[in-house]
Amino acid sequence: MAQPPPDVGEDDCLPEYRHLFCPDLLRDKVAFITGGGSGIGFRIAEIFMRHGCHTVIASRSLPRLLMAAKKLSAATGQRCLPLSLDVRAPPAIMTAVDQALKEFGKIDILINCAAGNFLCPASALSFSAFKTVMDIDTLGTFNVSHVLYEKFFRDHGGVIVNITATLGTRGQVLQLHAGSAKAAVDAMTRHLAVEWGPQNIRVNSLAPGPISGTEGFRRLAGDSKASKVLASPLQRLGNKTEIAHSVLYLASPLASYVTGALLVVDGGTWLTQPNDIKSMADFASSAKL
Ligand code: NAP
Repeated sequence: MAQPPPDVGEDDCLPEYRHLFCPDLLRDKVAFITGGGSGIGFRIAEIFMRHGCHTVIASRSLPRLLMAAKKLSAATGQRCLPLSLDVRAPPAIMTAVDQALKEFGKIDILINCAAGNFLCPASALSFSAFKTVMDIDTLGTFNVSHVLYEKFFRDHGGVIVNITATLGTRGQVLQLHAGSAKAAVDAMTRHLAVEWGPQNIRVNSLAPGPISGTEGFRRLAGDSKASKVLASPLQRLGNKTEIAHSVLYLASPLASYVTGALLVVDGGTWLTQPNDIKSMADFASSAKL
C-alpha cells in the first residue's frame, strides 16, 4: 500500500517536506484562504507557500491567525498576511480584500475553507443552529467569492476552490445542517463555473473525507469513526497534507481545463462507510455536543 505523505497533528508546519516539492508550481501567486489559521486551511496555506505562493489567511480569531502566519512564513520563507474577518459580514470581507490587494497588488486564488459544524439530530436542531451553519458555510462562501469577483477576479481571472464534504451525498445522520450547507456550495461551484468561466475564472469543489489531526474530525467522530474507516477502501484516515496536495492540483495550472468539478478526496470512504445512527448518537451524547 502506498504510504501517505507526512503530517503533524497540530497547527504546526511539517518538520520536513520533500514530497512532490515543486517551488515553481505557484511561484509568485497570491492565495486568499478563509479558515487558513487552523486545520486543513493551515496545511493548504503551508503547501501553497512551499510551492512558491504568498498567502492571506483570514478568519475571526486574530491571535490564532498571527501565530499561524508567523509559523508559516518562518517555515517557508514566503509572505503570509493574517486578516481578521467573519465570512458572514460583507463589509469586513471588503476591507480585508482591499488590505490584501494593497499588500500584494493581486489575488490569484481563493480557497473557501471556513466552516462551522457539530452533531445534532434534525428533530433537535434549532432554527438558529441550522441558520448559523448555512450562514457560515453557504452564505460565507458566496460572500467572499462575490467580493473577490467584484474587486479583482472579474477583470483579471482567478481560481476558486470551495472545501465541501460528502455528507449530503447519501444523507449522513446528525448532519442535516452541514450536509445541506455543503451541498448548496457544490451547486454554487457549478453555477459560478458556468457564469464566470468566460472571464477565465475556474471554480471547483473539493470534498475531504475524515481527516486526522483536525478540529472537524475531533468534533464529529472521535475514536468511534476511526475504527470504522478501516472498513473503507484505503482502510485509513486521510491527513491534512493529502487534502492540501489535492487542493494544490485544483488551484494550479495543472488543472487549467478543470472547472465545475467536485473532487472527492476521502480514500473511497463515502462509498462504503456505514451510516450508523446509534453509534453517532452515542458519540454525540458522550461528547456533550
Ligand atoms: P477547523 O480547523 O475548525 O477550520 C474551520 C476554520 O473556519 C477555522 O479556521 C475558523 O477560524 C474558520 N471559521 C469558522 N467560522 C468562521 C467565520 N464565521 N468567519 C471566518 N472564519 C470562520 O476545521 P477543519 O476540520 O480543518 O475543517 C476545514 C474545512 O474542511 C471545513 O470547510 C470543513 O467543513 C471541511 N471538512 C473537514 C473534514 C475533516 O475531517 N476535518 C471533513 C470534511 C470536510 P476562526 O475560529 O478563527 O474563525
